[in-house]
This record gives sequence, C-alpha cells and structure tokens, in this order.
Amino acid sequence: MKTLDLFNFKDKKALIRVDFNVPLDADFKVTDTTRIEAAKPSIIKILEDGGAVVLMSHLGRPKGVEAKYSLEHILETISKIIGVTVKFATNCVGDEAEQAVSNLQNGEILLLENLRFHPEEEKGDLKFAEQLSKLGDIYVNDAFGTAHRAHASTAIIAQFFPESKCFGYLLANEINSIKRVLEDSQKPVTAVLGGAKVSSKIGIISNILDKVDHIIIGGGMTFTFIKALGGNIGNSLCEDDKLDLALSILDQAKAKNVKIHLPIDTIIADDFNNDAKTDVVDVYNIPDGWMGLDAGPKTNVGFSYIIAQSKTILWNGPLGVFEMPSFAKGTIELGNAIADATEDGAFSLVGGGDSVAAVKQFGFANKVSYVSTGGGAMLEMLEGKTLPGIAAIEA
Ligand code: AMP
Repeated sequence: MKTLDLFNFKDKKALIRVDFNVPLDADFKVTDTTRIEAAKPSIIKILEDGGAVVLMSHLGRPKGVEAKYSLEHILETISKIIGVTVKFATNCVGDEAEQAVSNLQNGEILLLENLRFHPEEEKGDLKFAEQLSKLGDIYVNDAFGTAHRAHASTAIIAQFFPESKCFGYLLANEINSIKRVLEDSQKPVTAVLGGAKVSSKIGIISNILDKVDHIIIGGGMTFTFIKALGGNIGNSLCEDDKLDLALSILDQAKAKNVKIHLPIDTIIADDFNNDAKTDVVDVYNIPDGWMGLDAGPKTNVGFSYIIAQSKTILWNGPLGVFEMPSFAKGTIELGNAIADATEDGAFSLVGGGDSVAAVKQFGFANKVSYVSTGGGAMLEMLEGKTLPGIAAIEA
C-alpha cells in the first residue's frame, strides 16, 4: 500500500487532505476532537522527517463563504493537539494561499480555509484541483470521511502528483481494518447489523454474504424480518415494501451457509419515549399498540454467545434506541460481549455513525480493535464499492 512511509519529507511540503469536519458548539468550540487526533500521526511523521505540512479540509455544508463555517475556529484546537502553533490562510487557493505556502518553513504547519467555500470543490472541478495542487510537493490523502466523494481535494487532485501521492496513516488503517474483516479474516466471522432500516443496510448484507459465517440482525430492522416471517409486530418500525427482500436475504443466506440470527425477545413500549410503559415479549407476538425498541434478555444472552465464538467481528448499527436509557441495554450488552471477545484475541471493527456514537457513549471505544472515523465511506466500502479517494491514490 502506498503510505507516507514511502517518502522522506525532508525539505518537502506535504499537502494533506484531512477530515476536520468536527462538531462545534454555539461558541465555536470543538466538542469532539477525534478526527483531529486521528490525523496526528501523519502530521508528526512529516514534521519529524524535516518537512512542512499544509492542511486542507472542509467544515460543514456552507453555501459560498459563511463565517460560521470558517476553519479558523478550530485553529487553536489543532495547535494544542499537535503541539505546534498552526498558521492560517484565509483562502484555500490563489495568491494568498500560495504566498503562505512559500513562506512556510520546515517544521511548520499551515491550515487552509474551508475548501467548500468554493463550489468547485464538491463539483470535482479540474482547474480548482490544479490550483490546490500548487500548494504542496507531495499529496497525502488522510481523509477517510470523504474518501467516497470524487471531490477536487479528495480525488481529482491526485492526478497532479503522479509519482508523489500516498495514503496517510489514518486512511491506511481504515483500509487495512476493513480488509482484515472482509478479506484476510480469521474465522468465524460475525457481522452485527442493527440500526433503523433494512433499506440502508441491504447493500452491506448482499456484499458480505460470501464473506461471513454469522449475521446478527438487530435494531429496528428486526421487525421487517419478523413481519415477513409471519410475526405480529404491533407498531414497531417496519418497511412494508421490503418484506420480500427480507425473505430473499434469508434464502440467500441459507444457500450460502451463512447463519442469520434474529432476536427472540424484545423490550416493547407503549410509546416512543424513555418513560413509556415497557414489557418483555416474544418478538413474534408484540401486542397491538406496542413497539419493540430494544433486544430482550434472552436475545442478549444468545447474541453474546455467538460473539464469544467469533474471531472477527464487524459491528454496524445499534441493537435498540440506545439514545434513550430505557432502551440501551441490548446495545450495551453487545458492546460488552465484543469487548470481551476482543480481549480474548478477536479482531473487532466498529463503524457507521450511530454505532460509533454508542461505543463512545458507553466507553467501549478503547476496548474494540478499531473504530472507524468514516460513516458513509465505511458503508460504501462494506458494500464492496470502490471509493474515488482510494482509487485516485492507487492509480
Ligand atoms: P442507522 O443509522 O440505520 O444505523 O440507525 C440508527 C438508529 O436506529 C438509532 O438512532 C436508533 O435509535 C434507531 N433504532 C434502533 N433500534 C430501533 C428500534 N427498535 N426502533 C426504532 N429505532 C431504532
């Protein structure tokens, strides 16, 4: 794999596409620094080699130039995390940016203003990419969160660095961890797919059927399967237009000898509300007017048993409405089981926005092997798609 290790950055300026699209509070303070910390190893390697770093990123979804999306808000946080005072250019292209880059000394870092202040970025404009390419000697892509986009800074730019482009350590780790689950995996491999909808996970299920031994299905998705199998699901979440699809997934899995595990019991509520009345019932017999919002106790024991037997585990999507404490138990017990299996030597990868939020909220982030930084990008890789940001470096 073409990583930073192929280059010595002494006297070189590295132009790094990072994903510093971090959450900010009302005072523009960064509330979660994970993405900045994740880019640190690449930045440090370049500085230690004796080079300089030019950082480019987007922040939010600005329509043209909007002060609230300025990357200047996060300058101080980056400086603190990296331990170097980071300089700032108020435009990411043009004379000002080029001048700031030419003044940059070895050991220094420059942050460019929000790429998306220019609509050309998301359009993948070639001229804009060429302007950006003037700002470094070596192009490094370390932005997994945007690797599934063919934007100017994430993919198009790479052609201007035919011999001097590479993956940063973060992006390389993301690619390697997905490979460890889907290609070079130790068996048995178990995928846990939860979350709200079958429709958003169907691409993953189709792609992994040839690669895994067990699929645990949980969360809101459960009830489309249970209804398709003839159960009464009350008011639970259901995609009625996906009932045939659910049955077809079960058939395909059987043909490929993949075991699909559905919940057997569920915690039901009489309202979508943390303080609703609750009960535990068989997942096939949910009374009218009630809805399943979490995995039940027997299900949790069964799922934990399967996880304990697994050598490779992929987790995407919570097992219940974990945002409400009354319905978080299934997700927490699964997290515990994955943490225990990891301690016993299994490789575990957690990805997808809500499962990452869950592992952080419940303190599992350091107890699993890898937590992905990219929601959409991770989903597309699991669906077997080629990501433009990765292909552009490999080309
Ligand atoms: P996704 O983005 O598809 O991974 O879905 C995550 C969302 O699914 C979370 O916000 C959960 O609250 C929600 N979810 C999980 N289980 C259920 C359920 N049984 N009923 C409704 N929503 C659920």
